[in-house]
Amino acid sequence: MSDLDRLPIRAELRGQSPYGAPQLDVPVRLNTNENPYPLPAALVARIAERVAAAARDLNRYPDRDAVELRTALADYLSRTGDYPLGPERVWAANGSNEVLQQLLQAFGGPGRTALGFDPSYSMHALIARGTGTGWISGARGADYTIDLDEALARIAEHRPNVVFLCSPNNPTGTALAGEVVERVYDAAQAARPSLVIVDEAYVEFAHTASLLPLLEGRPHLVVSRTMSKAFGAAGLRLGYLAADAAVVDAVQLVRLPYHLSAVNQATALACLEFEDTLLGYVRELKEQRDRLVGELRALGCEVTDSDANFVQFGRFEDPHAIWAEILEHGVLVRDNGVPGMLRVTAGTDAENTAFLDAMRHVLKSAR
Ligand code: PMP
Repeated sequence: MSDLDRLPIRAELRGQSPYGAPQLDVPVRLNTNENPYPLPAALVARIAERVAAAARDLNRYPDRDAVELRTALADYLSRTGDYPLGPERVWAANGSNEVLQQLLQAFGGPGRTALGFDPSYSMHALIARGTGTGWISGARGADYTIDLDEALARIAEHRPNVVFLCSPNNPTGTALAGEVVERVYDAAQAARPSLVIVDEAYVEFAHTASLLPLLEGRPHLVVSRTMSKAFGAAGLRLGYLAADAAVVDAVQLVRLPYHLSAVNQATALACLEFEDTLLGYVRELKEQRDRLVGELRALGCEVTDSDANFVQFGRFEDPHAIWAEILEHGVLVRDNGVPGMLRVTAGTDAENTAFLDAMRHVLKSAR
């Protein structure tokens, strides 16, 4: 029995392991959907400038409402998402994981349930557990899209308080049609007034547009975003949401005071100033993603169409054994536990070449 097991912790946490991909020191790390490009020197200098200015005032608490940052995020969403938004409809926190946690603290909790469609981002279920929200796992179709009949049936059956959608979906890369969100939203509201969250962590990499315009006339719809992927700032920890202003008021009931440090706010503002440069990398990564899809198919793999900065591929009898063999070639990919499948993040041209070379060796020895 470990020390942890001796603690009087909540029953549902007993025997559980913390979430997290292995952080192994290998030459090519393509396992956590990070952006492979380091921040450009000019942005690093601008961050230093903004953080230095903020540092002078670190004796004071930061702007609790992060108004300057939320205004800049609202401006970014309005320009790129084809939907005008003001700062009162945008909220920011330490990564979109914290945004989702705050949403479940406000709209989930003991006696309430959240529904998701698996395989999807496993933190949705884990944040539900952490907030005492019951989790209902709906299924996806064989092609990893959401089967609308199945989704509507699950909503009618369980009448969840929160519904999670994810577009593009992690780990499959599958984007959702707007119509699916509309139908799920209508069904969820018909069952009971409930919150529908569309997790758009990877939307900048999609072939399709953001679902932000669907916020119009849907006061219980939330779109969550992050600067960890397209903005290449996973280390910053900055996520945000767009929704009706009342939803932003609701998360303020549960957020810790001063949750977003002045250093975070200053760094995020600097990154947003470099939107053009950073989104330029997104164009390159989309090309690399499409290259991975094409070359893996040419190698005879089954590859799920991807709208994200990663690709799901298989089909392997023992994906974990293949994962370990790829690792022997110095390349770390992800085994998410999806039967038969693995996931690889689109890296730089050289990293993807290393991965594809490793795959050629692994497949040759497997056949
Ligand atoms: N949503 C999805 C679908 C993700 O894949 C991730 C990160 N892997 C997140 C949210 C959380 O990202 P962050 O907390 O870095 O914003």
